[in-house]
Formats: sequence, C-alpha cells, structure tokens
Amino acid sequence: MTILDLFSTSPAWFITTLVIFTLLIGSFLNVVIYRLPIMLDRDWRMQSQELLATPSLTSADKPLPPKYNIMVPRSACPHCGKQITALQNIPLISWLLLKGKCANCKARISIRYPIIEACTALLSVIVALKFGFTLHTAAVLILTWCLIALSVIDFDHQILPDQITLPLLWLGLLLSVFKVLPISTSDVIVGAALGYLSLWLVYHLFKLATGKEGMGYGDFKLLAALGAWMGWKLLSVIILFSALTGAIVGIALIVLRGRDRNIPIPFGPYLAAAGWIAMLWGNDITDAYLRMIHVAS
Ligand SMILES: [Zn+2]
Repeated sequence: MTILDLFSTSPAWFITTLVIFTLLIGSFLNVVIYRLPIMLDRDWRMQSQELLATPSLTSADKPLPPKYNIMVPRSACPHCGKQITALQNIPLISWLLLKGKCANCKARISIRYPIIEACTALLSVIVALKFGFTLHTAAVLILTWCLIALSVIDFDHQILPDQITLPLLWLGLLLSVFKVLPISTSDVIVGAALGYLSLWLVYHLFKLATGKEGMGYGDFKLLAALGAWMGWKLLSVIILFSALTGAIVGIALIVLRGRDRNIPIPFGPYLAAAGWIAMLWGNDITDAYLRMIHVAS
C-alpha cells in the first residue's frame, strides 16, 4: 500500500497529515508576510531615489544583511537578534512552550504567529473535507495559502504584491486548461478580464466623482486572479460579499472607534475572504439565490 492509497482510503490519516503539513505552511506564510513587504520596500528604494525621503520599513539602526529573501537569513528574534533554533520553530507548539516569549531575551513574541499557523491548518482542513483527496483540493489549498498571505500583508501595509497576485492569476487559467478545476477555459478568461476591468472602472468613476482613490491596482489584480480561478459567474457573489462586509466593518470602525473616514481601509482582505467562500460554496450560494427568486416569482 502506497502513501497515496492510505490517504485515499483513510480520511483520518489524510487529515492528520494535512494538519501537521499545513501548520508548517502557516509558519512559512508568517515568514512571507513579514519579509516580502520588506524585500519589496528595499527593491523600490534601490530603484527610486525619490522614495528615500519617506520612512522605511526597516529602521536605519537595524540594517538588513546583504542577502535577504524568504529563505535567507534564518529567522531571528526581532528584539535581540538571536537566531531561532529548529526546536523553537515548531509551529504553534514552540510558541506555547515558550509562553509567547523569546527564549533568549524574554521579549514578547506576537500571538499573531500561532494564530496564522492555526488558521492556515483550519482553513486547509475545511478545503480537504469539502473536496476530498483530489487534485482539486491541492489546487484550492494553494489558493487558500496565497489568500491568507495577501490578506495579512494588505492589512499591514495596504499592498497586494504582484509577486503573489499575478502567478495566482496565471495558475488559475492553467488549471482550467488542464481540467483540474471544473470550469470552462472561456469562463475563466472572461472572469479574469472582467474581474480586473470591473474594479478598474469603479476606481476611475470613484476618483472622477470624489477625487479620491478608493482602492489600489492590487485589488483589480486580486479580483482578476479570483475570476481566473472561479470564472465570471461568481464575480458578482465575490463583489457583493466583499463590498457588504467591507462597508459594514468600515462604518463600524468609523462609528465605534472614531476612525478617520479619509484613511483608506484595505479592501484586499474582504476580497480574499469573499473569494475563498465563493471558491468553496459559490455554486451553492447562487443556486439557493436562484431558487429564492424562482419561489418569489
Ligand atoms: Zn530575543
């Protein structure tokens, strides 16, 4: 019996292995979320002298090593700089054993790290339970992990890096061509194009009317990617869900916390969440909606 047979015949083994594997993925996403914006910031600074006048993500007293990417250097405590050992880097467990403190200097380690690891595992299990031990699951897992990274990066820095959105878009188109996802290629091409153009249009109309920028180009690319994964039919569900939750949360923040209404609220996390829900239950939602209209008429 191969490991693949074991996974297809025993869901318990599959899910247990998936939880362990995706906790590690969550730990990797933490690195991406932390480092990718810093890497981009450094690139932009190197390319553009004009940007030097704005504050940097990396303060001048903590210069980056010459080689700095997702893999190098090894993770270290941001407070004391002590390298994190393999034992201290076990997702979730290390944070609990260290009681959320650096083993060396006892500085607090944000609870965000274990939360992102746990969320990655939880959402991955939901995907696996929905689509089973299939290639479809593998594809949707990749989408899920990218959406988690994009949401947190957008929340922190109001950027949706092209380094994630564009490969996601091309991958979505290919998955349809190779029949991994059950949506026609013409549907996903139209989905990608309409996803981009619809938000592009909203952006320019909004800017024309108010003189303000309501969202960024990253949002258009993210919706294009979601259209490339799900086809144009689910775009309306995604836009409706993300706009509704975005508006509710935005108004709540302005009313409850007195947030300045001119500070832009990142739209990426809402798009990502709505896109993920549409990927899993979009067809159920549209079916239920159509039934409802049918009953009403
Ligand atoms: Zn430390």
